[in-house]
Amino acid sequence: MLNIFIIVVLLVLFFLFAQRYIIKKDDSKEYSYRRFGPLLNPAESIFYRALIEAVGEQGVVFAKVNMAQLLVPAGLKKKKDIFIASHKISKHSFQFVVCDPRTFEVRAVIELDNGKSLSKTKIEREKLLLSVCRSANIPLIGATIKYSYQVSRLRRLLAAHIDLIEADKEVRFCKKCGSPMIIRVATQGDYKGRRFFTCSRQPHCNYTENYNVVYEDDGDER
Ligand SMILES: [Zn+2]
Repeated sequence: MLNIFIIVVLLVLFFLFAQRYIIKKDDSKEYSYRRFGPLLNPAESIFYRALIEAVGEQGVVFAKVNMAQLLVPAGLKKKKDIFIASHKISKHSFQFVVCDPRTFEVRAVIELDNGKSLSKTKIEREKLLLSVCRSANIPLIGATIKYSYQVSRLRRLLAAHIDLIEADKEVRFCKKCGSPMIIRVATQGDYKGRRFFTCSRQPHCNYTENYNVVYEDDGDER
């Protein structure tokens, strides 16, 4: 019995020693690498240029930011859960991040939709994106490739989420009563913090309109 015990202890010691030795050896090994390619592909770089144009001086745009650089797990007590939650986000990046130019606080995350159908891994990523942005209260803006060529439209899309950015001035009239509409910021609900148009005659008229609504006369050039 004692012999078995000694053997087991020796094996465990050997295993620990070997593991430490091997890990050390691996850490010191130098691998070589080659360049993977440009940071942004052609479609992304066109969109990036439109994005910095639309954001102007009101924000700084970063591309391909690892999620773990911006987020930490919240509300977890167990070390194991924290580890898993951290690991989950560390494998993914935000495509574009707009930060406040002075404080570098995150203003919004922007995902470029290239119009291609989603593969299984992309759907998983999309789900993760939605859930992390919702829980961390970061506006997530989905932009299609066509915004790349229409800076004013892109600016309007951003202005709904980022209060620093003013869209080009526009006057809208209430579809119900014809009164001029005013811009308000939602204080509750799913659209909290987002701008919307509301009739200036409220509470007598309760007509509201999505800030991003684009009318047909704007043209839908592709
Ligand atoms: Zn009205």
